[in-house]
Amino acid sequence: MLDQDVTQALTKALGPERVFTDLATLDLYSADETPRRVKPAAVLFPASHEHVVALMQIAHAHNLPVVPRGAGSGNVGGALPVVDGLVVSFECMNRIVEFDPSNRIMVVEPGVVTEDIGQLARTRGLFYAPDPGSGAYSRIGGNLAMNAAGPRAVKYGTTRDHVLGLKAVTGDGKTLTTGCRTSKGVTGYDFTRLLIGSEGTLALITEATVKLIPTPETVATLRLCYNSNRAACEAVERVMNQAVVPCALEIMDRRSIEAIRSTGAADDLPFGTSALLMVEADGPVRDVPHQIAALKEALKGEGLLEVREGVTREEAQALWTARKSLSHAVKQYAPLKINEDVVVPVSKMADFIDFLDSLGHRYPFPIVSFGHAGNGNLHVNLMVHPDDPEEMAKARTCLKELFETVLNLGGTLSGEHGIGTEKRNYVDMEIDADTLAMMRRVKKLFDPAGILNPGKLFPDA
Ligand SMILES: Cc1cc2nc3c(=O)[nH]c(=O)nc-3n(C[C@H](O)[C@H](O)[C@H](O)COP(=O)(O)OP(=O)(O)OC[C@H]3O[C@@H](n4cnc5c(N)ncnc54)[C@H](O)[C@@H]3O)c2cc1C
Repeated sequence: MLDQDVTQALTKALGPERVFTDLATLDLYSADETPRRVKPAAVLFPASHEHVVALMQIAHAHNLPVVPRGAGSGNVGGALPVVDGLVVSFECMNRIVEFDPSNRIMVVEPGVVTEDIGQLARTRGLFYAPDPGSGAYSRIGGNLAMNAAGPRAVKYGTTRDHVLGLKAVTGDGKTLTTGCRTSKGVTGYDFTRLLIGSEGTLALITEATVKLIPTPETVATLRLCYNSNRAACEAVERVMNQAVVPCALEIMDRRSIEAIRSTGAADDLPFGTSALLMVEADGPVRDVPHQIAALKEALKGEGLLEVREGVTREEAQALWTARKSLSHAVKQYAPLKINEDVVVPVSKMADFIDFLDSLGHRYPFPIVSFGHAGNGNLHVNLMVHPDDPEEMAKARTCLKELFETVLNLGGTLSGEHGIGTEKRNYVDMEIDADTLAMMRRVKKLFDPAGILNPGKLFPDA
C-alpha cells in the first residue's frame, strides 16, 4: 500500500489519470514473461521526461523502489515488480520525436514499439538493424535496457551498436544527456554504452537517438540440413572464418528438429537431418548472388545432406517455417521452458553442443537448443515440470553445470536476454569480486538510495 502523502505527491506531479493503485491494474502489471508474480504498490504512466524527473524525486525522497517497464516481454524477471514498489510503465511515452533522414537518425521515446522505428525508417530507404524476435511488441526502452538483439546481430551488432545518445533520469531524479547526434563523437565518458544493457538499475531512459543505415536492396535465404550437430557447428565455424558476413546464421539442434517433426512442420527435411542452419545474405542486388556462392562454398562439408535456396519472399518464408514453428513445438515436452541464452566462442560451438548432448543423457528432462550460431549465442531450453520439486532441483544443478562449461569455454552467461532476477545468483561465476565491487560503486553514483530496480542484475552482496 502506498502512503497517502506519496499518492498525493505523485498525483499532483503526474495527474490522477497517470497513477493507478486499483487491484486490477496492479495485477496486470505484476509479471513479465517469467512465471513469478509480485504485486506493486502503484503503476505510473508518465507522459514526459519531466514526469519521470518528478516521480523519481518523489521516490528518492520516500525511498520507494522503482521498476521501469516496457512491454513486459523480458524473460529474466527484469520488469518484475518489487513488493511495495512503483512500476513505471513507459507505454504513454511512445512518440517519435524526430526523424532526420539526412543525418540518418531518429529520436524516440522509450515506449515506441521496436518495429515501428524500422517501418518509419523504410519510408525513406533507411533501416533500423536490431531485430529481436519480440520486436512487434517490445518497446525500444526495454530493448535499450537489455541490449536486445536478433538474427541480424551477426552482421549488424546489437542495440548498443545503433544508439548515438540518450536522455535519462537517475535514481535521485537528475537528468543525464549522453552521447551526441553525430556519427562520430568522443567527448566525455561513454555513458550511452554504460546505460544500454544496465537493465533499469542505473537510470530510467526517457529518450534515445538511434542510428539508421540504408536498407539492403535484397536478401537471399539458404536452408541447410546436416546429419549431426557437430557437422552443422563446423560449417558455422567455416562461415565465420571467411570474408562474407551473413546477415543471419541460425542453428536448430537434433532435439529441436524432433520437436518440429511431430508438428508436421519438418516434413520437407531429408531423412537423417539432425541439425539445420538458416543462413541469409543481404546487400545490393548485384552482390548478393556472389555472397551466396561464397557462403555455400563455406557451408559445404562432411555431413551436409541438402541445401535449399529461397530468393523470393515467399520462398524464403517457406524455408523459415521449421524455425518459426519451434517455440510452439517445444511446448509439447513440458509446461515450463527454462530458457537460457548463453554464448560461447564460435570455434567452441561444436564442443559445446556435444556437451549439451551429454547433459541431455544425464538429466531426466529434454534439453532443446537453437539460436544465433553466428554469434555463438544458443538458447538452451530445459523443458521441465514446475510442480515437480525433484525435477526442479535437478534443473538447478544442470544450470550450474551448463554455466560452468560455458565459462570454461570462454563464453558468457547471457547474449541478449539479460540477467534480471533469474540469473543474478550466477553472475559472480563470471564477474570477479573487484569488478563486481566497482559495478556496485557505479550503481551507487547513479542511484544513491539503491531504489532503481533492486534485486536485479547483481547477486546478493
Ligand atoms: C517471444 C519472445 C521472443 C523474444 N525474442 C528476443 C530476441 O530475439 N532477442 C532479445 O534480445 N530478446 C528477446 N526477447 C526478450 C525481450 O523481448 C527483450 O528483452 C526486450 O528487449 C524487452 O522489451 P520490453 O519492452 O518487453 O521490456 P520489459 O520486459 O518491460 O523490460 C525489460 C527490462 O528493461 C527495463 N526497462 C524497460 N524500459 C526501461 C526504460 N525506459 N529505462 C530503463 N529501463 C527500462 C525493465 O526494468 C527490465 O529490466 C523475447 C521475448 C519473447 C517473449
